[in-house]
Amino acid sequence: MPKITRIEAFQVDLPLHEGSYRWSGGNSVEVFDSTVVAVHTAEGISGYGEICPLGPAYLPAYAEGARTGIARLAPHLIGCDATELGVLNGRMDAALRGHPYVKSALDVACWDILGKVAGLPAATLLGGCYGDSFPLYRAISQDLPQRMAEKVAHYRSEGYSKFQLKVGGDPDTDIERIREAARKLERGDVLVADANTGWTQHQALRVADAVRDVDVYIEQPCASYQECLAVRRHTNRPFVLDEVVDSLGMVAEGIRDQAMDVINLKISKVGGLTKARQIRDFCVSMGIALTIEDTWGGDIATAAIAHLAHSTPPDYLFTTTDFNSYVTVSIAEGAPRRKDGRMTAGKAPGLGIEPRWEVLGKPVVSIG
Ligand code: MG
Repeated sequence: MPKITRIEAFQVDLPLHEGSYRWSGGNSVEVFDSTVVAVHTAEGISGYGEICPLGPAYLPAYAEGARTGIARLAPHLIGCDATELGVLNGRMDAALRGHPYVKSALDVACWDILGKVAGLPAATLLGGCYGDSFPLYRAISQDLPQRMAEKVAHYRSEGYSKFQLKVGGDPDTDIERIREAARKLERGDVLVADANTGWTQHQALRVADAVRDVDVYIEQPCASYQECLAVRRHTNRPFVLDEVVDSLGMVAEGIRDQAMDVINLKISKVGGLTKARQIRDFCVSMGIALTIEDTWGGDIATAAIAHLAHSTPPDYLFTTTDFNSYVTVSIAEGAPRRKDGRMTAGKAPGLGIEPRWEVLGKPVVSIG
């Protein structure tokens, strides 16, 4: 059995090609602070995972917290079989209540090991790949309406056909942002207006009503589930829930209330691939489509996303993204790369990546 002997964490900075990323509430990030986890086993097989919060103000998660939490949890996993994902998650949940983002990279690293032991890509273990590739979306950082529309046209020329506008600011400006961007679309394109909890309920209702003739999805308009539900009940636009969807129970509640048509499933928001897969499969069974992604990350987070996305039935994979194309630093070889707005999960065992040790440097956590 591949017994866990050592757990390490590495800190890595991921600057952005565009210089910064801006979303609701005046929030922005210029350099992402990411953490790579390495889980080593007695058989010499190692697995890797990555956790990169979208700064400390987006979800209850932050980079230093991830590293502190990983150091706190690691002793509970030393000596365990790395391939027993259910047992490992049970141990993590027993040792540390909540903090799903802390557990995510550890869980993903053990999926990488499971794949290497089985000799199969993670996507096969997650259900198998549908087709040759899957489509990506591009997040359009919050900016002046005309500039955001130009970005839509620019990324369209790079092969993207799905665009997620960062709104959630001044409602009048957001209405312009949505209308200007929609003019750049062509048949078959998808436009999402993601407020990232930035509107009050009355602002959200104003915007949703003002764009009722635009082919656009509304994502997470307000902070609370109740506010989002009120907006949902008054709009004819298809509706996505993201920040409030943090567990299988929350998805069940949303389906009961007919609160959304699509959920945004971020791997670290729910604690890793083990729990993300449960939610993915439940949503598919219940007819709810998914955006499959993470809070952010580089090559390793992108590989994990690709394996979960590629093993999701295409009718239910609303969209997904390639974070490694937003950042200037490559942290692993073998990671999937965008081609004509689409991506493919790797065919090598596990996640199919190998960390670039010269980029990661020395571990900041080493236990075992
Ligand atoms: Mg979102």
